[in-house]
Amino acid sequence: MYIIQGLQCRNCGRSYTLSPTHICEFCFGGLDVVYDYSKVGHTFTLKALENRPYNIWRYKELLPIEKEPVCGFNVGFTPLLRARRLERLLGIKEIYIKNDAVNHPTLSFKDRVVAVAISKAVEFGYDVISCASTGNLANSVAALAASCGLKSYVFIPWDLEAGKVLGTLIYGAHLIRVKGTYDDVNRLCSEIAENFEWAFVNINIRPFYAEGSKTFGFEIAEQMNFKLPKHIVVPMGGGSLITKIWKAFKELQTLGFIDAIETKMHGAQAEGANPIVSAYKQGRKTIKPVKPNTIAKSLAIGNPADGAYALQTIRESGGTAEDVTDDEILEGIKMLAREEGIFTETAGGVTVAVTRKLKEQGVIGEDDSVVIAITGNGLKTQEVVRNNMGEPTVIEPNLKDFEKIYCTVI
Ligand SMILES: *Cc1c(COP(=O)(O)O)cnc(C)c1O
Ligand SMILES: [Zn+2]
Repeated sequence: MYIIQGLQCRNCGRSYTLSPTHICEFCFGGLDVVYDYSKVGHTFTLKALENRPYNIWRYKELLPIEKEPVCGFNVGFTPLLRARRLERLLGIKEIYIKNDAVNHPTLSFKDRVVAVAISKAVEFGYDVISCASTGNLANSVAALAASCGLKSYVFIPWDLEAGKVLGTLIYGAHLIRVKGTYDDVNRLCSEIAENFEWAFVNINIRPFYAEGSKTFGFEIAEQMNFKLPKHIVVPMGGGSLITKIWKAFKELQTLGFIDAIETKMHGAQAEGANPIVSAYKQGRKTIKPVKPNTIAKSLAIGNPADGAYALQTIRESGGTAEDVTDDEILEGIKMLAREEGIFTETAGGVTVAVTRKLKEQGVIGEDDSVVIAITGNGLKTQEVVRNNMGEPTVIEPNLKDFEKIYCTVI
């Protein structure tokens, strides 16, 4: 026991006890969970993994929970599949899709972070779960809180997709639609968090919540037999996921599961919400906030909480950051559907389109291996493709009618 040592500031290194807090009082840096890896190794072994169920808790020694988790027993271990048709189309030797579009229960990678955040919130004694969300987080908080019998208050920006609104209301969450952008919602929630005894998964519980994203990286490593790919293309909203996949790889290296890490972490954004990509391209270490305007609403964050850390991860790994237009995002969505039979949301369109761009630029070579992170499901963002797909053919229920259109089709 005592595997989890506490929290530590990622800027100045000051230590904090395990508590619902997320910002360093001295330098306003983000706090990160620290583990004693010499103790993790006692029970976290290849042999032990063989006998554990296939969900995020198989990595429990590397997750920030001290008691038994309260939810998430079906979250994670989503497919990592070889994308042979996409390989041929893009001219890349090995492409794998890590497909969180089919994660349980709400079809996005957010189920990972929320399962960890709610389990930690219950340890801290909270009985109301809350969040500021770009959509998928709202769905996940509402569903997993409901499954634990907890109340949820969910705050969303004004212009969210219908599927994400309904996909929150259905679980009985209190849904509050704020007349503003995600950044306005987030600012408001930070104020509410100071006045209400609620667990805001991505504010006061953020260090614990963010650790859940590591499971995306643990799974990629395990599913590839601990031989990591040369490249990973990851969507960036707040910038947390990309930093935590990197942290996951480093932990597996510390524990002796992986020898050398030669993976380049590439961060992907939409042109209309690209504060991390522009900082990267301009060689800056800090983020200049932007006003988001893109169809990729799950990534539409103008002032990303972990933007500076995402930049660090990208540079440390030797990766790049790239953005794509809304039209390229739509092409990415269609390409993944038509080549691989996977319907992803706009964030997945972003990573597919950025992968293609990096191949064209020569950043990804034809003999390389790439994992593309697909983090959400296309059924939730139908409005972006609806006017783009044509209509079904309508016929009377008789053979003649069918033959008529069959002949014109061929
Ligand atoms: C939230 C979200 C992201 C971005 O994750 P961050 O950790 O905020 O960078 C990516 N894809 C989808 C589908 C999301 O919902
Ligand atoms: Zn600090």
